[in-house]
Amino acid sequence: MDETVCRIHVLAIPLPLQGHLNPMLQLCKRLTSKGVRITLVTGTSASISEQNQFESIKIEYILDDDNIEVEGSNASEKVAAFLKRFNSAVSDNLARLVEEKASSDHPVKIVLYDSLMPWILEIVQGQLGLKGAAFFTQACAVSAIYNHIRRGTLKVPLETSTILFPSMPQLESNDLPSFVYNPGPYPGILDLVLSENINLEKSDWLLFNSFDKLENEVVTWLTERYPIKTIGPCTPSMYTDKRLKDDKDYTINFFAPDSEACLKWLDTKETGSVVYVSFGSVSDLGENQMQEIACGLMNSNCNFLWVVRPSEESKIPRDFMSEAQERGLIVNWCPQIKVLSHRAVGCFMSHCGWNSTIEALSLGVPMVTMPVWVDQPTNSKYIVDVWKVGLRVKASEEGEMVTREEVEGTIREVMHGEKASELRNNALRWKELAKEAISEGGSSDKHIEEFVSSLESI
Ligand code: UDP
Repeated sequence: MDETVCRIHVLAIPLPLQGHLNPMLQLCKRLTSKGVRITLVTGTSASISEQNQFESIKIEYILDDDNIEVEGSNASEKVAAFLKRFNSAVSDNLARLVEEKASSDHPVKIVLYDSLMPWILEIVQGQLGLKGAAFFTQACAVSAIYNHIRRGTLKVPLETSTILFPSMPQLESNDLPSFVYNPGPYPGILDLVLSENINLEKSDWLLFNSFDKLENEVVTWLTERYPIKTIGPCTPSMYTDKRLKDDKDYTINFFAPDSEACLKWLDTKETGSVVYVSFGSVSDLGENQMQEIACGLMNSNCNFLWVVRPSEESKIPRDFMSEAQERGLIVNWCPQIKVLSHRAVGCFMSHCGWNSTIEALSLGVPMVTMPVWVDQPTNSKYIVDVWKVGLRVKASEEGEMVTREEVEGTIREVMHGEKASELRNNALRWKELAKEAISEGGSSDKHIEEFVSSLESI
């Protein structure tokens, strides 16, 4: 990049989780294409595989590679312990990182941080006298729900089972983010997600990984109250914007992807014949549930590519893969964007993490939704009832379990049923609209341009 163009230097601090790093990295990549210099702060180099080439983004690691093991008996506890350690490292190192660049030609004037770390804003504005831009890595609808709780227009614990907000479809209580209707053993998480409201009121910029046409009404509702800017979808631009030629594999993978195996296997399959299944980087399904999914996949008679992280492998029925033979492939991690773009993939069975959701929409892939927790139920509601690109598997009456029959039936319906072509056409329409938003002159592209020119005037 031409050094003279690089006037603005942004320090970017994503939450060091897969679903937060990925979109922040894509946003940073876009900013560099508009002449912004980026230093990205993350945990340890252990999270970045060799294949990644970050020509225009400098990465600073603030945790010790030898000391990343954290305590906890399950995924959520480990995530909480890891974040605690990361937060304290950011708070110890932030002033130093800014000072180190203060005497250079490109001092840092702006910190771009994940909206779930609102305490960073206090250091940035209060102690360092800089500006802060909050980046929201979830749907605008989800932020609006948290804002309704903050305003008292939604009382928690819930007082009704049906909720009607001005800019949203009617929601049942279990369409809300899980910690709103069921704090479970982690009551602190609701406080954490609600704390993002501080950003809405105090942050100098509010950037959302969404696009105007996707969440039209709720974006309008938020914009009437806060100066938000939608700048998404933050997916690798090689699929949407031919201007960014050096886009390579612009991802940080916490798990090594089995790229070659996945793509070669997909090449052998007929167009639209594969169900791609993934529950993201954190969700932890019970053994019985995994077995029901396995049997449902098998009985659907479709080809399937299933991402099962190493910690989940023991939950797969023994002999399952030998029974599936060439019909199925299980990998520990895959290059999801490439998989979703592959012609062989006919639908995506997903936990509806926001990145998976917006990636599927941007790549035109219909979905079978199986939300697990956090914001996933709300994303699923929109996928099924607002964007109309998927169907949800329903849990059995007795409990939380989704049966094998339900998995099989929903996959069959999305792949070949009466609604299949409508879902596919809708998905393709969203793909076009996503591309339009991020292409030159589109709503998200314009918002990024506005953000960059406001940085130039600081
Ligand atoms: N992902 C991937 N390979 C996989 C599974 C997921 O690259 O095998 C990526 C996916 O493209 C997405 C992120 O990991 O960008 C997962 O984020 P999401 O918000 O969907 O779910 P989370 O992991 O936060 O629950």
